[in-house]
Amino acid sequence: MSRTITHFETHDVRFPTSLSGDGTDAMNTDCDYSSAYVSIHTDGESPLVGHGMTFTIGRGNEIVCQAIATLATRLIGRDPEELFKSMGKTWDWMSSDPQLRWIGPEKGVIHIAAGAVNNALWDMFARSRGKPLWKLVADMTPEELVDATAFRYITDAITREEALAMLKAKEAGKEERETTVRELGYPAYVTSAGWLGYSDEKVARLTREAVAAGFNHFKMKVGADPVSDVRRGLIIRSIIDDPQYLPPGSKGRDPNSPELKGKNAGPTGAVLMIDANQVWDVPQAIEYVKSLEAIKPWFIEEPTAPDDILGHAAIRKALKPHGIGVATGEHAHNRMVFKQLLQAEAIDVCQIDSCRLAGVSEVLSVLLMAAKFGVPVCPHAGGVGLCEYVIHLSLIDYIAVSGTMERNVLEFVDHLHEHFLYPCSINSKGRYNVPLNSAEGYSIEMHEQSIAEYEWPHGSYWMKAKAQGSK
Ligand SMILES: [Mg+2]
Repeated sequence: MSRTITHFETHDVRFPTSLSGDGTDAMNTDCDYSSAYVSIHTDGESPLVGHGMTFTIGRGNEIVCQAIATLATRLIGRDPEELFKSMGKTWDWMSSDPQLRWIGPEKGVIHIAAGAVNNALWDMFARSRGKPLWKLVADMTPEELVDATAFRYITDAITREEALAMLKAKEAGKEERETTVRELGYPAYVTSAGWLGYSDEKVARLTREAVAAGFNHFKMKVGADPVSDVRRGLIIRSIIDDPQYLPPGSKGRDPNSPELKGKNAGPTGAVLMIDANQVWDVPQAIEYVKSLEAIKPWFIEEPTAPDDILGHAAIRKALKPHGIGVATGEHAHNRMVFKQLLQAEAIDVCQIDSCRLAGVSEVLSVLLMAAKFGVPVCPHAGGVGLCEYVIHLSLIDYIAVSGTMERNVLEFVDHLHEHFLYPCSINSKGRYNVPLNSAEGYSIEMHEQSIAEYEWPHGSYWMKAKAQGSK
């Protein structure tokens, strides 16, 4: 059936999360979680639609929507089947417009906008095949998967041929891994307990709830005040290390088991991570994190500027004797930054972002590099829509690319899922359920009513808030 992409629409959707302190950290003190959202349509007897978005935290979201519109205009008149044939080639074409390239290249607003558009195309591709996105990619042959990947500028770290050989080596176990993860779910961790804007009492209550819900990896925000960070960290540790809070019947996990090795797990096998959201200079990061040794973190996330590859390497080297690792990636703006972080041995954990990288095709290139370098991928999530996206990426990583999930944990934040038609969910063991609806594509379709309410500035919520003078 022949179809043509005929039109698209964008929506600037903003949620007033700054009112509750959700999402607060040392750098981002006032976030209105927002979605620069796009829906792309085709003609035909049974027209296709693809939804995509990128995440921002409020002001400027309208600029991203404008960039999405500029990029998506290039798709009008194209046959989607032609684009799906090689999503790698499609990605190269989308990212190399000779004029738009100047306002990147491959960074900033234009790149995150490209992420929304690329994700919308992948969503359309998955829906057209009646599969959730992870399944579409996991079912690809190694050749098809390599064809769907963005390889430009990374062949000094991994070539197509190497990638192909790696994928072929993992091919035989794919079916078994899919069965396993459908049954167990994918390991997750919670960040919601440790936002900087929360009181000690709220942190303690949320931590107890998270332990009772089966989670065993927890993250807290640090960087505003070391004394307060140690105090809050010890509150969290006192709960996660105490067997009395474990769910009924659970004995916790053996802290000496291989999957917890090097994670500074406490007596119940619980792991704590800390996240500074880029607040420090390099020497300051080293000193500050050393002062938090008492709370025994597995890693410090985003200790410094996200582009500072050698700075991350220096921090990692300095913290190694203290048993604390380094993680980053949610603000790493393209695959070349990840390539260098891996080449410079700057990270213990690779934190891809589903829509800061320009969509699934660029994510695949980072998954392949991380697997080659033996660094676990633990995607960044939270915000709005990110949890819906990243479960797909972690499933692709486990089933088709790295073949392992034992040491991985996928961020989970329990905010704003109700706005999506196919919200992600967590099972009783604190793990992500596998998305199974054949119509859900990349799981990012938002309820029309949510868009009508929260579209900025004329959605019903914002009009009412303006009338009341509250926002
Ligand atoms: Mg973070």
